[in-house]
Amino acid sequence: ADFNDAGLHPAMLKNVQLAGYRTPTPIQRYCLPAIHFGYDVIGIAQTGSGKTAAYLIPILNKLMGKAKKLAAPRPNPATFQEGVDQRVRAEPLVVVVCPTRELAVQIFNEARKFCYRTMLRPCVVYGGGTMRDQEDQLQKGCDLLVATPGRLLHFMNKPSVLTLRRVRYMVIDEADEMLMDDWKEELNLILSGGEQEESNINYMLFSATFPKVARDLAKSHLAETHVRLR
Ligand code: AMP
Repeated sequence: ADFNDAGLHPAMLKNVQLAGYRTPTPIQRYCLPAIHFGYDVIGIAQTGSGKTAAYLIPILNKLMGKAKKLAAPRPNPATFQEGVDQRVRAEPLVVVVCPTRELAVQIFNEARKFCYRTMLRPCVVYGGGTMRDQEDQLQKGCDLLVATPGRLLHFMNKPSVLTLRRVRYMVIDEADEMLMDDWKEELNLILSGGEQEESNINYMLFSATFPKVARDLAKSHLAETHVRLR
């Protein structure tokens, strides 16, 4: 089977083809239907397995069908006026949390390919980047946010810049790395979705290994029903 038979939204199929992907990798074959049908997913996967696209394609594919209705607020070019502040608050539908700046940028670049020529706007924030620049990016509108945990919490504490109240999909990528770096409390805070009811959020946890700390994190936030890959 290849991506042509996966029942993807035309805009997504086009972007998958532009990316040069023809056949789904094994983890993509599992994750596409699981995420499409609304399951929480635990993916035990190494970098190189195609895990980024395994969650980005089905998540963004679902949102594309409803992008007009769901797209986050953003500045209106029709009413643009020199000197008039058009900043909006970032209200992402998707949040991807990962351990490093390098990985965050990599995931963001993958997200950009799949969001190309759609209503969906990706953003990235990470520790070490300029706060002001990242804030400016967020306030241009944001549907999908890729972030490292510390910087994400920083912006979650600035409600005029970012709110997680509209999040539908929350992805924790390289969970084992973050837990090893002692981000357990922060991850629990992020996973609680800030202000909203957790039950509205679909969770995905990806990890190269699956130690007890990662199992605990999964147990306290993911639904019983999930796909586990080895
Ligand atoms: P990842 O495991 O997400 O870091 O992806 C590893 C590499 O495989 C990245 O360079 C992707 O662009 C590429 N990739 C992901 N899925 C596919 C696919 N279905 N076909 C070809 N290349 C892919």
